[in-house]
Amino acid sequence: MSSAPDSPPPAPIPTSLRRLEDGSIEISWNDGSSQVLSPRTLRNACPCATCREKRAAEPPPALLTVLSPEEVQPLTVTGMKPVGHYAYSIEFSDRHTTGIYLFDYLHSLGRDS
Ligand SMILES: [Zn+2]
Repeated sequence: MSSAPDSPPPAPIPTSLRRLEDGSIEISWNDGSSQVLSPRTLRNACPCATCREKRAAEPPPALLTVLSPEEVQPLTVTGMKPVGHYAYSIEFSDRHTTGIYLFDYLHSLGRDS
């Protein structure tokens, strides 16, 4: 047998992005896997400093809370733009646009459990 083949890429790279009819985003990766992420999942996972602080400050939501109007509004992803060769900037219908989602991070979302 010969020695090592071409070394694998160091990080997952998205090979396609698709918006599904229900507004979810389907991401396919160069490792052959794919996943479907809802706008809410992406929004809740927003890695920007503002959202991280907010999540750290807020106690976990109680059951049966009254939803605020913006929570009732269907949230949609209004745009996804590549940032360099390592991340996407995602824009949401609530006008939140500061989240930079590293490929590694996106790749890990919705996969555990
Ligand atoms: Zn954010």
